[in-house]
Amino acid sequence: MNIIENFPVPNTLALTSVAEFGCLLRSGQDIVEAKRFARTKGVAFKVIGAGSNLVPLPKVRGVLGVMASTGVHVIDETNTEVLLEISAGQNWHELVMHCVGQDWFGIENLALIPGLAGAAPVQNIGAYGVELADVLEAVQIVDAQNRLLWLSNEKCGFGYRSSRFQGRTEEVITALRLRLSKLPKPCLTYPELADRFTNFSGLTAQRIADAVIAIRTAKLPDPTVDPNVGSFFKNPIINSSQIADFEALGLSTYNTGAGVKLSAAQLIDRCGWKEKPGERVGCWPHQPLVLVNYDNAEASHILEFANDVRASVAEVFAVQLETEPSVLS
Ligand SMILES: Cc1cc2nc3c(=O)[nH]c(=O)nc-3n(C[C@H](O)[C@H](O)[C@H](O)COP(=O)(O)OP(=O)(O)OC[C@H]3O[C@@H](n4cnc5c(N)ncnc54)[C@H](O)[C@@H]3O)c2cc1C
Repeated sequence: MNIIENFPVPNTLALTSVAEFGCLLRSGQDIVEAKRFARTKGVAFKVIGAGSNLVPLPKVRGVLGVMASTGVHVIDETNTEVLLEISAGQNWHELVMHCVGQDWFGIENLALIPGLAGAAPVQNIGAYGVELADVLEAVQIVDAQNRLLWLSNEKCGFGYRSSRFQGRTEEVITALRLRLSKLPKPCLTYPELADRFTNFSGLTAQRIADAVIAIRTAKLPDPTVDPNVGSFFKNPIINSSQIADFEALGLSTYNTGAGVKLSAAQLIDRCGWKEKPGERVGCWPHQPLVLVNYDNAEASHILEFANDVRASVAEVFAVQLETEPSVLS
C-alpha cells in the first residue's frame, strides 16, 4: 500500500481539499497498516468513500483512507431470496443496476444515489420510501482493536439518516450483506413514484429503478455538472402535539416510520431561498434542499450559506435544521 503526502480529497462539491496523507484501502491489512502509520505520526486516521456526503476543508489533517475493495458475491440463495456480500469500495449505483438486472427486489428505489457501498450504512441511505436498513442483514467492520467483525442489522443502531457508524472514525466498514427478494416486492409508498405506473401488476425491479432514475434526473442536479452533496439538511422530526400548529402555517407534515416529519425543502422554500441566489453558492431551483457550488466556492462559502439558510428557518419557523453531510477537517 502506498501512502502519499498531500492527497487530493475526492468530493462531489468540487472543493479543493488536500489531506496531509492519503491512501487507497483494498484489504483489511491495508486498513491496519494505515492506522499504524497514523499512530506513528501521531495523527488521526479517517476513512471515506467517494466524497458525495462530505464538506472537506481545504486542509484535512491526518491519514485519509479511501475504500477501494470491490466485488459482489452471492453467498446464499433459495427459490425466493438471495443473500449478497458486497465489498465496501463497490460503486452503489452499479450494484443497484446489477441487482435489478437479475430482477432481485429490495434496492431498486435507491438507484442513482452516488457513492460507495461501504458508506451506505453510515447514514442509512434512503429514498422513495426505502432505507438500506430494510434489506441489510449485516455489516462487516475492522474495529478499533483491528478485529474483523460482523454486526447484525440490530447492532447498527439505524434510524432516519443515522447509525452507530457516524463519528466513529476507528470503525471501518469493509463489507455489507444484503438480503434481496427474487419475488416481486415493489415499494410504491412514495406517491410521486406510484404515479408513474398505471398498473402495478407485472412490475419489474428494472422498471421501478428506471422510474426512480427519471424522477431523480428531472429533480436533482448532476454533481459532475452542478457540484453538490444531495440534500444538505435532514427533514425535521416533530412531536405529534406540534402537527396542528405547523399545518396552520400551511406546512405539510408526513407520518413516517421515523415519526412525523416536516419537509425541510418546504421550510427553505417558504423562507424565499429559491429566489435568493448566493454569490457562489445557491439552492437548486427544483429542490432547494440541495446546495450547489455554482462558482468555485470554498468550503467556508458552502458552510456560511448553509448557516444563513438554517438561521432563517429557525427565525421564521423556530425549527433547527440538522446538517446531513459531514465536515471533513
Ligand atoms: C446528487 C446526490 C444525491 C444524493 N441522494 C441521496 C439520497 O437520495 N439518499 C441518501 O441517503 N443520500 C443521498 N446522497 C448522499 C450520498 O450519496 C450518500 O450519503 C452516500 O452513501 C455517500 O457515499 P460516499 O461513498 O460518497 O461517502 P463519503 O461522502 O465518502 O462519506 C460519507 C461518510 O461516511 C463515512 N464513511 C465512508 N465510507 C466509510 C467506511 N467504509 N467505513 C466507515 N465510514 C465510512 C465517511 O467518513 C463520512 O463520514 C446524495 C448525494 C448526491 C451528491
